[in-house]
Amino acid sequence: MFGLPPEQIQENIKRVEDRIAAACKRAGRDPAEASLLPVTKTMPVDSVQAVMAAGYGRIGENRVQEIRQKREVLGDAVEIDMIGSLQKNKVKFIAPYIRLVHSVDRASLVIEIEKQAFKNDRSIECLLQVNIAGEEQKSGIEDENLFKLARTASQCPNVKVIGLMTMPPFYDDPEKCRPIFQRLRELAEMLGSSGPDRISMTELSMGMTHDFEVAIEEGATIVRVGSAIFGPRACAMK
Ligand SMILES: *Cc1c(COP(=O)(O)O)cnc(C)c1O
Repeated sequence: MFGLPPEQIQENIKRVEDRIAAACKRAGRDPAEASLLPVTKTMPVDSVQAVMAAGYGRIGENRVQEIRQKREVLGDAVEIDMIGSLQKNKVKFIAPYIRLVHSVDRASLVIEIEKQAFKNDRSIECLLQVNIAGEEQKSGIEDENLFKLARTASQCPNVKVIGLMTMPPFYDDPEKCRPIFQRLRELAEMLGSSGPDRISMTELSMGMTHDFEVAIEEGATIVRVGSAIFGPRACAMK
């Protein structure tokens, strides 16, 4: 795996930070409420170290295998968020240290996370992933089943739901994602005010390289950005 030179990565990070700040300004938001999660999937450890040197203590990854490899090298020098779809039988590998799971989309997964979190004597922060556009091929729970999933999670003492995540389909025009981001925020507001007690709805993980500015304008608190920082990924590894 070869990544961009560290100076290039740091320059890209600055550019993304500037664009986030500008989007916050347009939306009248405090930039402190919008955090950038660098997505390092498929990128070498060198690239992770480049963002760490730029002051980032946290990265996003989408495959358990790769999380374990990076963890082996980096230890707890960096915190790792799981952003990709997660198989139940792999939860045990990351449960001891994973910081936030963005992709919790079904009850059986919630229950497995509870079990493994309990075994590790910790609580694991989770976001419920919603499939707003209702596309069949994408992961995420459908709107209408979200409350039920939230209720299941609220009954798991070691699962700490802190918000929602979505991944819209790819549109050439990022403006087309706006209604999806608006809907996610609406769902979070509904769950926050009339959902189960033990969950909180402070985080909205939405927006990637192609659409993070629109997401920020619509209230994202975490944007997950990969290629704008680290360059394009090899196609087979998307
Ligand atoms: C890969 C990935 C990202 C980052 O994608 P870019 O378009 O490279 O910014 C964000 N979220 C998820 C869930 C991903 O899998």
